[in-house]
Amino acid sequence: MRKREVLTPMPKTKFIKIECPDCGNEQVTFSHASIVVKCNICGRELVRPTGGKAKILTEKIKEV
Ligand SMILES: [Zn+2]
Repeated sequence: MRKREVLTPMPKTKFIKIECPDCGNEQVTFSHASIVVKCNICGRELVRPTGGKAKILTEKIKEV
């Protein structure tokens, strides 16, 4: 039996790396996140969905 490969076409979603301004933790998320993204370490809100493009609440953003 062969595993069926499912290739999901990605819409204009980019991965971005954001740095928490409070604790310096870096984590990777989508540029169009549809849920609130919080820092894994301190719980600070880093990305807030706005219906379209997510609002990034940190200035330290890198494209991955
Ligand atoms: Zn943090």
